[in-house]
Amino acid sequence: MTTTTETTDISLREDTAALVARLRATFATGRTRPLAWREEQLRRLRALFTENREAIADALHSDLRKPRREAYAAEVDLPVHEIDHTLAHLAQWLTPTSLDQESLAGLPQGSTAGTQYEPLGTVLVIAPWNYPVQLSLVPVAGALAAGNAILLKPSELAPATSELMARLVPRYLDPEAVAVVEGGIPETTALLAQRFDHIFYTGNGTVGRIVMRAAAEHLTPVTLELGGKSPVFVDQDTDVSVVAARLADAKFRNAGQTCVAPDYVLTDPATARALEVALAEAVEGLFGPDPQSSEAYGRMVNQRHFDRVSALLDSGTRVFGGRTDRDDLYIAPTVLAGVTGDDPVMREEIFGPVLPLVEVADLDEAIAFINDRDKPLALYGFTENETTRRRLAAETSSGGLGFGLPMAHLRVSDLPFGGVGESGMGSYHGPHSLAAFSHRRARLDVPLG
Ligand code: NAD
Repeated sequence: MTTTTETTDISLREDTAALVARLRATFATGRTRPLAWREEQLRRLRALFTENREAIADALHSDLRKPRREAYAAEVDLPVHEIDHTLAHLAQWLTPTSLDQESLAGLPQGSTAGTQYEPLGTVLVIAPWNYPVQLSLVPVAGALAAGNAILLKPSELAPATSELMARLVPRYLDPEAVAVVEGGIPETTALLAQRFDHIFYTGNGTVGRIVMRAAAEHLTPVTLELGGKSPVFVDQDTDVSVVAARLADAKFRNAGQTCVAPDYVLTDPATARALEVALAEAVEGLFGPDPQSSEAYGRMVNQRHFDRVSALLDSGTRVFGGRTDRDDLYIAPTVLAGVTGDDPVMREEIFGPVLPLVEVADLDEAIAFINDRDKPLALYGFTENETTRRRLAAETSSGGLGFGLPMAHLRVSDLPFGGVGESGMGSYHGPHSLAAFSHRRARLDVPLG
């Protein structure tokens, strides 16, 4: 006897299989390969952003109370910049490379060799809720640039944005080659049972492991854009008011729900004291005396995340903040001082508006603290000292390394954006997106005569 749930499961599996088969059939026709198709799709994706700026900002406000300025900057302007950069350089990036004659020693005279990119086929993009538009459609832009058919699964935890993308994507992009499937765990599980030629997942490491296990069944390569605790080292020689302003802006944007947000600060005791004061001023400058009534401050995505972050407020001593309002999903921008590596707030990625200050005696201790933990998605430093910069670069590991302005590295399209170890594998943005969604094929031509 089959139950209703089993029947639903079967029909979900069949629908998913049929959809993937349709995308594969489109790819097999060769329709997505020509440069002209790729560029046209990128231009249409650009139009999706520019013609729906307000609708995108409205959806993000509904899902996350995302301030409009943040929504425009991170979820419209950044993707448009990525698309423009790709359109400007795609033809050049796709030009086959050729090796010089020295590499061909021993082969017949007139031989040539090089590499060229070819699309992988049909790819799956699974996106999270925190920057739900950017983290869905920038990977899609890369997959289009590489000439693939694409299935996008937005996060069910940002429902207004998910619904908007499901509505807009088929209106703008080639519906035979690009599809959106909305849903949560059952839909994603059904998708992961299918064979794709690449899976691009952004989210947490637990689900990252589920994705990778499912991908292994089909030997499908994966890009995993995960998270982690991104540390900030603040040296003694810095102007703390500049450091505090830049730290506060990066940390409290999107209420701290940013994968590359500074997670915690490592600094000496005197700098920590100075930072406490400067951070309080910086936060007031950003959100006024009552952040809850500021249009510039966001909310926790849901009660589960509200409860999780609220439980981290008692580590160390509270410098400022700490106020919460569960009905409003509000957690005040909070700074905690005197935090140690064993405190609860240091045991998991915070992903919320809480900034712990951890005191260290010197750079050696800071480097040891960082290296005792998982490799983070980003590592930041504020210092005027070249030796400190060199040591942080040489003696630690992280997805990205940024001095002077946290989170800015992700806006540089030509830099690979991605993690290492627990913070992920693979990278994208600009030419790296093309590489992520392509196969670099080796080619050797030997003359017959
Ligand atoms: P999420 O809960 O929205 O999950 C991401 C995706 O996984 C969603 O599409 C969801 O439907 C799917 N999913 C969830 N559970 C699943 C399951 N059991 N089986 C199959 N699929 C499932 O997002 P999240 O993971 O809460 O996002 C936050 C995390 O993502 C943080 O760790 C953050 O650092 C990381 N992150 C990383 C980046 C990056 O670029 N590296 C960007 C944003 C967020």
